[in-house]
Formats: sequence, structure tokens, C-alpha cells
Amino acid sequence: MSTPTLSGQRPRTCRACGKKFEYPVKGNAATRHHCEDCVAVPAETRKILERLSNRVTQLENQLRRLQEKPPVPPAA
Ligand SMILES: [Zn+2]
Repeated sequence: MSTPTLSGQRPRTCRACGKKFEYPVKGNAATRHHCEDCVAVPAETRKILERLSNRVTQLENQLRRLQEKPPVPPAA
């Protein structure tokens, strides 16, 4: 399942802000886990961003689940 692809970059998702970005890109400071915007952010601040980003992802998943299956109406 894990075939290394030498050509063609896979879009990556930034751990801190959730932005999709290409990696590696020549002349771009982005790392494997962080887009070029978040690379410039101090590590401690980035940690907080990652925590918030995780929460947003969880909330998005929950929201999607709720939208797919509306909650059972409360029994009267
Ligand atoms: Zn980012």
C-alpha cells in the first residue's frame, strides 16, 4: 500500500491551520506537517494551533455525522 512516489506531490494538510499545501516545493519553507505560514509561527504557539485544529477537525466530523443522520427525535 505504501509505494513511494518520486514524481507528483501529494497535497498535505497543515497540522496547525488545516490548510492543504504541496510538499516539497522548491523555495518554500513548508515542512512535512506545517505549511509555510505556520512554519513561521513559534513552536509553542504552533502547539496551541495544533490543539485547536484537532478540535475543529473533531467538530467537523461530528457535524458531518449529524448532517448525514439527523438525531432521533426525542420520544414524547
Ligand atoms: Zn498552516
